Amino acid sequence: MRLLCSVSLAVLAAVPRAGAAVNVVATTEDLAVLAREVGGDRVKVEALARGYQDPHFVEAKPSLILKLHSADLLVLVGRELEIGWLPPLIQQSRNAKVQAGAEGYLDASLSVKILEIPTGQITRAMGDVHPLGNPHYWLDPGNGRHVAKAIVDKLSRMAPADAGYFASRYADFDKRLAEAEKRWDALMAPYKGVKIVTYHRSWPNFTDRFGLDVVGYVEPKPGIPPSPRHTLALIAEMRRLSVKIIVVEPYFDLKTPNSVARETGARVLVLAPSVGAEPKVTDYIKLFDHDVNLVVSAIKDTGSP
Ligand SMILES: [Zn+2]
Repeated sequence: MRLLCSVSLAVLAAVPRAGAAVNVVATTEDLAVLAREVGGDRVKVEALARGYQDPHFVEAKPSLILKLHSADLLVLVGRELEIGWLPPLIQQSRNAKVQAGAEGYLDASLSVKILEIPTGQITRAMGDVHPLGNPHYWLDPGNGRHVAKAIVDKLSRMAPADAGYFASRYADFDKRLAEAEKRWDALMAPYKGVKIVTYHRSWPNFTDRFGLDVVGYVEPKPGIPPSPRHTLALIAEMRRLSVKIIVVEPYFDLKTPNSVARETGARVLVLAPSVGAEPKVTDYIKLFDHDVNLVVSAIKDTGSP
């Protein structure tokens, strides 16, 4: 019996991998859903961070090392978004395929438009967590399209027999996304230039894409908690400009945003910065459906200038 088993295992191991699903691990749920869109049933996709977690600060649990251990392809946000937690996980996975620079290592930020790239000397002074430009680029649907294409190109090199399948999945996603963009643009069109404040600098790609004007942040710098002095200056500026909306990511304490809202007559609006931030936000198009609808309702309700 034992002999039979080892013979069967040897036969199984000899079966070529053609047609086998590519094992994809994405650092965030946003990248995971994009990989699922284009990979269909020829990929198995898992995300490391959950959409309701702050992607800058994820607990490096052993279960995440295990996921990386069996990955063929790692897709990451890059621009140092995951610098605080991903490198030790990759190292401990002991998986040569997904080490930085290996064939199975895809930095999605290399295929998109990055905003807020610092000029002059790059510094992490005062704990700024965006030293290489803003890493929250997936909040522009145009960038989501570029990431999907980069994943298709990579998958097609790893599984050439399925290249046609990936290309047709991408064409379908591209079409559905373009239709959705028309819908979002029509909803947002009347509100170009509306002024808002956000907690973290998560939204420049979103606000650029849809024409909103971010005039301040609850954080003094990305990754630095609110300080009394900064909060007082923010309240003064919001009063001066009659700002009525404070956008907050679901993983931040609402204490400071609520007190700023009381002082200024503004409303706190919790948006989904990622797929999975809310149970109903289950794919990339639903993420923008959710956020665009909430923003439009809040602008109407508050009469934001
Ligand atoms: Zn950030």
